[in-house]
Parts: sequence; C-alpha cells; structure tokens
Amino acid sequence: MSGSGSSQGEPGGAVSPRSGRVDPMTVAASVRDLTKIYGSGQTEVRALDGVTLDIGAGEFTAVMGPSGSGKSTLMHCCAALDTADSGSVRIGEVELTGLKDKALTALRRDEIGFVFQSFNLVPTLSAKENILLPLAIAGRRPDSAWFDQVVATVGLDDRLGHRPNQLSGGQQQRVAVARALASRPRIVFADEPTGNLDSRSGAEVLSLLRRSVDEHQQTIVMVTHDPVAAAYTDRVVFLADGRVVDELRSPDREAVLEVMARMTEAAAPRDDAAAREA
Ligand code: ADP
Repeated sequence: MSGSGSSQGEPGGAVSPRSGRVDPMTVAASVRDLTKIYGSGQTEVRALDGVTLDIGAGEFTAVMGPSGSGKSTLMHCCAALDTADSGSVRIGEVELTGLKDKALTALRRDEIGFVFQSFNLVPTLSAKENILLPLAIAGRRPDSAWFDQVVATVGLDDRLGHRPNQLSGGQQQRVAVARALASRPRIVFADEPTGNLDSRSGAEVLSLLRRSVDEHQQTIVMVTHDPVAAAYTDRVVFLADGRVVDELRSPDREAVLEVMARMTEAAAPRDDAAAREA
C-alpha cells in the first residue's frame, strides 16, 4: 500500500483496476519516511516531510498536488537524480541510500526510464536513433522483437527515419516514451509529459502510457496537475506540503477535482493566517 489518507479499492499492487488483472503483491518502488529539507532556520523548507509510499508493479500512478508540494523532489529522489536527507528509497530490491555513483548510474540506466515535459530528444538524430540512444550508450544490443513491439505500441513505424523537427510535438513525445520503454526498465518516471502538448496530442501520449501498462505491464509514475491526465491512471497520490495527504483508486476527472477542491479548502485557513501575519 500506500500513503495515508482515504483510499478506494485494493491496496497497491494487488489488482490493476482497469484490466482486472490480478498481480502478485509486487512493489516496483518503495519510499519510507523520506525527508528533504532546503535551507535552514527562517528559510527552511521541508520539500519532503516524511513521505511513505509504495508503487505497485504494473500500475500507472499519478502524483498530484499544488505547486511547491514536493512532487518534483519526490520524483527526483525516487529516480536516483537527487538524494534525500533521511528515509529510504528502494527500486525493486535495491536500496538507493548509500549506493556509490557507479552503481547509481547503472541503476538509472538499467532500471529507470524518463519522460520529460520538454521531450529532450537529440535534434540531429532520427526517431529510431533517439529511441535506441540509451541502449547504444550502455553498449547494449537492442532486443529487436521488443523494439518492434514498442514501435508498434507507439504507432510510429512510418516516422522512424524522421528527425525531431520533422515531427509534431505529440509525435516527439511518443518517441520520448518509446525511448524510455526501449530498455525495458522496471519503472518509468514521467514529469508532466503532456505539459507542452495540445489536448489531442496529450491524449495520444496518455493512451500510449496506458497501453504500455496494460499490454506490457510497465510500471509508470507520472507527475501531473491535469485531472484529465490523472484519469488515465490506476491511482492518484496527492501531496501537500511534502506529505501524502490523500489518494484515489480508479480515478475519474470529477473525483480528482473533488479531492483538489478539498485540498484547496484545507489550505485556505493557513493562507488566511499567513496573510494576516504578513
Ligand atoms: P512541486 O514539484 O510540487 O512544485 P518541488 O518539489 O519543486 O514542488 O518543491 C518543493 C518545495 O521545495 C518548494 O517549496 C520549493 O520551493 C522547494 N525547493 C525545491 N527545490 C529547491 C532548491 N533547489 N532550493 C531551495 N528550495 C527548493
């Protein structure tokens, strides 16, 4: 399971609510009492304030919360891009705390895929070369059957020779998703993957992420502020002030909006008090 707050349905990892598929109680990543503090004294900010969370294997999880609630910090700590001050992060069986640089680099390369808001494709390489770049850097031979499956899932067969500037934003992001999937990572972290896309291209990318969970049992964690995007997932975890404050299973847009409204209401008295003090 999960975080605190209200929860609907089964605990994390047992059942994929969309497919009804029953998984073993496997956990792709787990976070225990994670704390990260920036600054000190008057300027101290608790970006993460004791986050405990399990990410079920083969699930699509959204992380939501107001700006400054700690979403990026949590994702960066989970993805071994940043370190916390205390607490623990495991990817699969591996505890990140205390890993040396070389082991961290290997873990990021072999176990983790990334999708960024700004695509981050190499402009001089074709779509195919971009997709295979992380494997090439790692000196790994692509699994051609898997590559074909990924390209088919992504729906880019006829665009593989195109460079990023010959592709639409939605197509570029689909290339970035294919790149994240190509090495068959244990977990993919997506940071506002539809933030730069119009709603139709966004829907294409979200459907693709959904399919990679349903068809390939990929584990995905996506930071988003968009209730429509969150409705594609199996579970939404809500952060506020560096803490997990709520979660939803099988979310729809209305349920997500409801929790967001509750969170805004809960934050309002503090804002009023802060305003009076100012
Ligand atoms: P979110 O992604 O939800 O917007 P962040 O994880 O970026 O939130 O930030 C959480 C809190 O930590 C915010 O108050 C932010 O200002 C603060 N923070 C993040 N990064 C830094 C940093 N490098 N230095 C100081 N404060 C930071």
